[in-house]
Amino acid sequence: MSDDTRTKKQLIDEVNRLRRRVDELEQAELKRLAAEQKLQDLNTERDQVSAAVEESIARSNYMAVESELVYLELNQMFNAGGDGVWAVDKDCNILRINKTLSRIIGVKVDEALKNKCYDLLNIPLCHTGECPMNLIKKGRRRVECDVELVRADGTACTFSITATPFKGLSDEIVGMVANYKDITDRKRAEAELQEANRKLEELATQDGLTKTANRRLFDGYLRREWNRQSRKNQPVSLIMCDIDYFKLYNDTYGHVQGDECLCSVAGAITTNVNRAADVVARYGGEEFAVIMPETDAEGAMHVANSIMQTVNDLNLEHSGSAVSPRVTLSIGVACMVPEPTLDPETLIEAADKALYTSKETGRNRITLIQDE
Ligand code: GH3
Ligand code: MG
Ligand code: MG
Repeated sequence: MSDDTRTKKQLIDEVNRLRRRVDELEQAELKRLAAEQKLQDLNTERDQVSAAVEESIARSNYMAVESELVYLELNQMFNAGGDGVWAVDKDCNILRINKTLSRIIGVKVDEALKNKCYDLLNIPLCHTGECPMNLIKKGRRRVECDVELVRADGTACTFSITATPFKGLSDEIVGMVANYKDITDRKRAEAELQEANRKLEELATQDGLTKTANRRLFDGYLRREWNRQSRKNQPVSLIMCDIDYFKLYNDTYGHVQGDECLCSVAGAITTNVNRAADVVARYGGEEFAVIMPETDAEGAMHVANSIMQTVNDLNLEHSGSAVSPRVTLSIGVACMVPEPTLDPETLIEAADKALYTSKETGRNRITLIQDE
């Protein structure tokens, strides 16, 4: 082989080597570009991930701050109210208690949270079927009751308790929330109003001196009984008692003793009137009446005689009387089965007439007028 031929071959080899080298370099460049692209993609992805992470950190920070804020706000509301509140689990452990209730029972919040509700607030409802927690556990959605409590400072108070279920995340009942409202003032005002109404009712129907029924009650009651017994076809009896020579009694012993005498006579009459339906009333100055529904003439006469005897037994001196040295009564008794067409005044007139007869025929006696 000539030198020229060798040189040419060597050149061709060199060219081929260089071509392969160029190919290799091109491949390497492609790989580098691919790697660079991949790196870029990874960087982009990393940037996206860290942006997402940053965003979620920011969001959770925000949520944490927000929930802290909500907690602070709710806590203020929980403690700001005038009512006591606690949440108690089904085993009676105190889960939360506000400052108002902790003050009412005189136990610090931290201390209260280590206790059972019935240890801190032992009321008659505890451990009974009526205990609000027991009722909530049985499915009641709201329990309301009033209880008497002694506050830590020793004052007795009335509280209105409203208990509702305390629910967990899956809506299951984990206990109850109970609200304690101090209603002592309201209860006191109600009791005072009730007492005032009772007194008013008493004043409206009672004679102030003798404490027997007054004329207003007498009129209403007689009318009612008259109509009722008319429907039942049963008798009504009326006794009218008048103190003999009472004007002279006042003249002799004075009005104050006169008043005392009236009270004694009223007491003597009342002692002899035992049936719940009977009513003793002061009909006028020194005149008393006894209404006796469903009582016949015989029964009325029996009562009238007992009244007479009891007044006699009082042995009240009456030097001014022309019939006796003691206070005596003249009595008129009337007994009728009411007729629907007649007014109760018919009975009053009859008793009055009988009383007048007793006066006319010598006083200190009983006269009876009854239906034929
Ligand atoms: P008679 O035997 O006819 O019933 O005579 P009397 O004096 O009892 O009857 P009269 O109707 O003449 O007088 C009734 C007296 O009763 C007149 C009054 O001074 C007296 N009186 C009426 N209400 C009261 C009262 O609330 N207190 C006192 N102390 N006296 C009274
Ligand atoms: Mg009289
Ligand atoms: Mg009289």
